Amino acid sequence: MDKLSPQQRHANMAAIRGKNTKPELIVRKGLWKRGFRYRLNHKRLPGHPDLVLRKYRTCIFVNGCFWHGHHTQCTIHNSQCIIESSECCKIPKTNREFWVAKIRRNKERDKEEQRRLAEMGWHCITVWECELKPSKREETLDSIAFTLNHIWLQNHTRCLMADGRGKMDSGIPYPQLDEEDMQMPMAAEDECL
Ligand SMILES: [Zn+2]
Repeated sequence: MDKLSPQQRHANMAAIRGKNTKPELIVRKGLWKRGFRYRLNHKRLPGHPDLVLRKYRTCIFVNGCFWHGHHTQCTIHNSQCIIESSECCKIPKTNREFWVAKIRRNKERDKEEQRRLAEMGWHCITVWECELKPSKREETLDSIAFTLNHIWLQNHTRCLMADGRGKMDSGIPYPQLDEEDMQMPMAAEDECL
């Protein structure tokens, strides 16, 4: 049963969608405490990642389980993808078709944005709201920190094997930096030496 009126649900959803949401703040505080520094909501990157760690060439998205359809599967009915509810994402019974279409679009957009970021040489980490529940929070933050350090090492090993023309051995170019980034002072350890 959908107990909220359409207006209430709309207000509720608008609140969930906003920036500076609680899950996002948890990730920001947790990573800051672990010594990571970042920029927020980078407007010029696809999907406006919630956190951008240039030194790690990594974008972090903090996703609400409902909006981004966490754990949902797509079943095909009459050659259409129908999103089924999951433990994380309960699709409202009222206006079901609307929500299915909306969440499906969100999922497709997430995938496309991450594909574009990968093409530009960025790593992407998705953190789900349900992974930030008090019981799981520290473990999740530790695992993000572990992944970031792993990425840093990987990038720097590639640097050592670079062919001298500024290309990494994998052929993946460095992330494209916009003008604003170029003007930012660079940390020495951010570069291949
Ligand atoms: Zn979830």
